[in-house]
Amino acid sequence: MNTRRQLFQAAASTVSLTAFGAAGPRAGSSMPLSAPVANDSPLPITSYEPKSMLRVPETHVPRPRYPVIDIHTHLSWSTHSENGIELAAERQFLASPEELLEVMDGKNIRAMVNLTGGYDDGLRASVQRFDRAHPNRFFSFTEPSYARFLEADYPRLQAHEIEQAHRDGARGLKILKTLGLCLRENITSGALVKVDDRRFDPMWDTCGQLGIPVAIHVSDPIAFFQPIDRFNERYEELHNHPDWSFYGRDFPSNAELLEARNRVITRHPKTQFLVLHVGNFAEDLGNVSECLDRFPNMTVDIAARIGELGRQPRTARKFFDKYQDRILFGTDATPHGDEFPQQLYCDRLYEIYYRFLETDDEYFDYAPSNIPPQGRWRIYGIGLADTVLKKVYSENAERLLKL
Ligand SMILES: [Zn+2]
Repeated sequence: MNTRRQLFQAAASTVSLTAFGAAGPRAGSSMPLSAPVANDSPLPITSYEPKSMLRVPETHVPRPRYPVIDIHTHLSWSTHSENGIELAAERQFLASPEELLEVMDGKNIRAMVNLTGGYDDGLRASVQRFDRAHPNRFFSFTEPSYARFLEADYPRLQAHEIEQAHRDGARGLKILKTLGLCLRENITSGALVKVDDRRFDPMWDTCGQLGIPVAIHVSDPIAFFQPIDRFNERYEELHNHPDWSFYGRDFPSNAELLEARNRVITRHPKTQFLVLHVGNFAEDLGNVSECLDRFPNMTVDIAARIGELGRQPRTARKFFDKYQDRILFGTDATPHGDEFPQQLYCDRLYEIYYRFLETDDEYFDYAPSNIPPQGRWRIYGIGLADTVLKKVYSENAERLLKL
């Protein structure tokens, strides 16, 4: 007891809530209940892990009601990147198909799309390793080879590369936020290249002609464009990943990026755009709805944004009901992505998505993590109807991928 009391007394400047341990001050201990908690120095926010005392039903959803296609995963990366730009065709693979299939079979995941399948030899290796070795369980998308951006005739060359990638087995094209936020006139230096730069027009058109979708990530959460200060709702996330901030410097605003994206979608009406992360603007479903109304060639996925959707459950539920034919299930799952719990490929990640979509549960974690990684809030389920669920889980993806 002495130690405990000393701890509290000595601690005018250091005592934190954690001094109570997990159980808190025990009843029957000689410490007076009214003992002031010395907290001249406040608990660092990184140490704060409040446990909800709310007693409401908790539904465990180990398997989804219908089989799932995860349209948004990352199973491979380029072996060499600079300033956010993949420069090597060669891929590093984040997991073996066997390791992935174990979770897939357990969680009723029929198929997974590896969006970052790369290009050239890297793409062929990805298709070989996943798509061909396990038909209908994995689908690879290709990516632009920005390393060739300075070559003469790049626009036509890039379009031809998409045709070749399609012949090699690619089922779509993936655009990372690289375009708009990283790619520069001299690839890694110079002025930023705009999302609607005309040099990419042949590439977008080619996808339309081949009938393969473009999965496009433009901009990022709007908080990433705000100062990293005490008003930023994603302060901890940005503090952990300062390179995710696009505040200041020569970065365009979120609105400018989305407008440029919209011009691309308008100019290429025969190309299908799967606009990732809830149309790149999960914080503003009004904006996403307007875009969906405006662009018949646009669909969205929900990857890494159930944190956003689940904190506006009534708006989200209406959004799902209205656009039930145009919302695809995706997670952004990354094997061994421990640094980003909201994307960590594991059983629990999928259980959280299923719980969000299928139940009316209240106030639960949106990521497998003790501290909500994207912002300090919890989410509410939206209990979708069976018919809607089926579309979101797989039917909309089947149509887009032509399965
Ligand atoms: Zn992603």
